Amino acid sequence: MTGGFFKVECPDCENEQIVFGKASSEVACAVCGTTLARPTGGEAEFTGEVVETVEAR
Ligand SMILES: [Zn+2]
Repeated sequence: MTGGFFKVECPDCENEQIVFGKASSEVACAVCGTTLARPTGGEAEFTGEVVETVEAR
């Protein structure tokens, strides 16, 4: 199992932020506080647009 990271663009301020694909808690935009990802028990559900997948090492 690979724990992927995703670069998600905030729908409100276009800030790009790295979010863990299996985030276990809500991830908020560091700039405006909008929720970018919600935990679902598996893969997080992203509110913003995923612009890039970042491989975990
Ligand atoms: Zn934002």
